[in-house]
Amino acid sequence: MRFFKNLFYKPLSTQLTVTSSSGFHLRPVARFTTLAKSFSCDVIASFQAKSIDAKKVNTLLSLSLEKGDTLTLITQGKDAQRALTSLQTLFTTLMYNDVEVTSITKENAHYIGETIEGDIIAKGVAIAPASLYRTETIEHENTLTFKDAVDKTMKSLEETYDAQKESSNADIYLAQQSLLSALADKCDTLEALEALIAEESEKLQDTKLSTKITDYQDILQQVKTALGLEVKVIFPEQDFILLSDDLLPSEIALLSDTQVQGVILKETSINSHTAILLRASGIPSLIADTSGVPLNADIILDSFSGVVVLSPSSEDIQTAKDLQNKHKKDKAQSTAKRFEPAQTTQGKIIKVYANVADVRSAKLAKEEGAEGIGLLRSEFLFTEQRPSLEVQTKAYSDIFSFFDDVTVRTLDVGGDKALPYIKLPKEANPFLGIRGVRLFQSHPDILSEQLHAIFWAASKKPIKIMFPMISTVEEFVYAKQFALDVASKHQLSIDNILFGMMIEVPSTLFALAEFDAVVDFYSVGTNDLTQYLFAIERTHPTLSIDSRSPILFKALSHIVNAVTKPVSICGELAADTKAIPELVNLGFTTLSVTPKSIAQTKETIRHV
Ligand code: PEP
Ligand code: MG
Repeated sequence: MRFFKNLFYKPLSTQLTVTSSSGFHLRPVARFTTLAKSFSCDVIASFQAKSIDAKKVNTLLSLSLEKGDTLTLITQGKDAQRALTSLQTLFTTLMYNDVEVTSITKENAHYIGETIEGDIIAKGVAIAPASLYRTETIEHENTLTFKDAVDKTMKSLEETYDAQKESSNADIYLAQQSLLSALADKCDTLEALEALIAEESEKLQDTKLSTKITDYQDILQQVKTALGLEVKVIFPEQDFILLSDDLLPSEIALLSDTQVQGVILKETSINSHTAILLRASGIPSLIADTSGVPLNADIILDSFSGVVVLSPSSEDIQTAKDLQNKHKKDKAQSTAKRFEPAQTTQGKIIKVYANVADVRSAKLAKEEGAEGIGLLRSEFLFTEQRPSLEVQTKAYSDIFSFFDDVTVRTLDVGGDKALPYIKLPKEANPFLGIRGVRLFQSHPDILSEQLHAIFWAASKKPIKIMFPMISTVEEFVYAKQFALDVASKHQLSIDNILFGMMIEVPSTLFALAEFDAVVDFYSVGTNDLTQYLFAIERTHPTLSIDSRSPILFKALSHIVNAVTKPVSICGELAADTKAIPELVNLGFTTLSVTPKSIAQTKETIRHV
């Protein structure tokens, strides 16, 4: 049937390269398959002679895609073109935003009592008796069928996802929902679900995806609870450090109503959903073998240095208490400090701005201490369908409301970024084709509407508009005139708007004096500048460039010396702690980085 359905449609394809160092793991895969399922066409992913259905979480995960792997995405059917571009855009967004913890550096500690070592999940110090994880099963009267219980669990996961949508951890619930939906399709009874989960978990043992077993257990427990088989966790009434092999992600929320001081888990990993939620809750926690830990007497969990002190001396207790107090003070200070300006040892103030993509990241940027938005990547704002003028205006004004200084970049579509409602020709070298400011010529209506919305949203607020991929002065003049025409057509005053450009195409380096006469500001996009300087695609699976190459620094030095208008850096290099001292010494005074890198960037500047 499927064969006949698609016979009339040609397959479309594109290549997607995994650029995140954590690979294409469960949470991004869940987001990807959720979108894939919303299209009627077939969606196939092909990698190393294996072709699978990319609408299913488990099959897509089975490709085990790591950083550098390139998969071919094939869509075939009525809405294949829309599906291809939407999925391509989402994939790029997921890769841009996927920042996982690789390891947490340990500090030195000196204790007299015997210690065991572990890996840090979340930093902190706890002093309390250890208590083993205990549960009791309570059977309630059940009125639901198995299918109803699955539906109820799906609904509850959806509600948790909706409630946490603002947080990046929300995708954990979407991932569990996708797993449950895939499993429940194959089962009619609880026993069948249990057997299937046991079988799937067996396959995952000792693989890179083994932490998924806990998500399976969590789902199973939630379905059981819906069927009246509640497993209740028993917590002590006094302060305690919880010891367990592992915890279900859903159990982390329960801890907030207890006297828990710390958690030691034996069998999780630093990026499991349980670990992510523990970190978010701020409970000091460690991965360590808990078998030799004595119960019911005070132990020390020092997850700064990654140790558990099994029989602490009174000096040890004092050391831990001092550390606890220092931590409390440091935390309060660094939390407050992230809102303070970043000043070098020589007293020079460097502004630290944020690169954002939507209202959620703008809000996060504010919370993390950003002093403004140095780059709003507007192409990630509306990735599914073309927004109306009103919807666009609302999104821009929401984002503008967070800061007094905001730079919004006009759509930078093309290259590795696509939007389903912007048709671009298939090109052999899309990074050298219709991209960025070139859309002013190919899609004037879309750009005109975007500028109209930005002007409207800005109202009287000073806003900076930045054009991407400028390569000649004429291109800048054309884009600016285009914007002025939009304003005059709608009789909008734009005295409050400044116009600037990205420096990311090498040709601009040789015309900076001419640009200086027409632009109000610049921002250096080192991601693209590097790819074009070295002629190596930024997403290339095997070729890589030294991101701190002396040649790039020569280019940056030339820029900062040649221009008289304000210039910032918004490429990844701006958050590279090893590059920051040199960037500051070259004379850059504004760095724009991802929201999560703001505190660290400020702290690095303070040591220059
Ligand atoms: C850059 O090229 O460095 C940049 C900031 O823009 P993008 O990564 O969005 O192309
Ligand atoms: Mg760029």
